Formats: sequence, structure tokens, C-alpha cells
Amino acid sequence: MDCKTCKENLEAYLKGRLPQDLKQSITLHLKECTDCSIYYSTFLLAEKVIQKESQLEPNPFLATRVMARIEALEQVAETVEKRRLFSRIWQPVLATVSIAAAVFIGVMAGNLYQPVQLSGQIPEELVYMDDAAMESLQFLMNE
Ligand SMILES: [Zn+2]
Repeated sequence: MDCKTCKENLEAYLKGRLPQDLKQSITLHLKECTDCSIYYSTFLLAEKVIQKESQLEPNPFLATRVMARIEALEQVAETVEKRRLFSRIWQPVLATVSIAAAVFIGVMAGNLYQPVQLSGQIPEELVYMDDAAMESLQFLMNE
């Protein structure tokens, strides 16, 4: 038995999947070869650690906490996304509406201003009208 063959078959040896004769020769080699016996004990230790880890029960409380944290993060991300969507849709709309409002107000202000300009041009009939003749002053003179 050489070291290479021994190391190659160590996993199968450990799990008892080797034919009897190969198993015996590996056992014999591990007793004789320090290098392979160290390798074997390291391998054994690694196997034990792996087994321990696979046997570890997930802490349900920890899992709940982690899931709650993940859900909270997802909600935050969702809110941020909604806000982003909101501003992406509504900012142009609001900008358009405010521009339209500004134009409308400008037009209305211009329309309101025009009659004031026209009031400077009093029609001729009004200039020659006798105010005294229109108003009755009789009640003032009766005293
Ligand atoms: Zn060896």
C-alpha cells in the first residue's frame, strides 16, 4: 500500500465502504505510516466538524428575527421604490400643471388688464352727457 492509494481511499475507509482486504491494508498502512495517520486524524476531525455542523438545529428564534429583518428591509425597499415611482410620474405632471397654471394666470391677468387700458378711452357720448340733467336734485332744493 502506497501513501497515494491510502489517502485516496480514506473517505471510503472512514465510511466503511471498502472491501475487507483493502480496508485491512489501509489499517495496516495507517499503523506504519506517520504521514498517513496524521492525514487520517485530520480527515477524521474534519468529518466530525462537518457532522456536528450538519446536526446543528437552526435556532427558530434567530430564523424568525432574521426573516423579520429581511421583511423590514424589503418593505423599506418597496417604499423607496414607490416613492421613486411616485416622483418619476408625478414630478413631470406637477411641473406641467404648474406651467399651465402660470400661463393661464398670465393670460387672465392680461385679459383683466386690458379693460383698464380701454377705460382711458371714454366714449364721446359719455363726455357730452350732462350729469346734472340725469340726476334729480329737486329734493335738495325743496327745503
Ligand atoms: Zn502513508
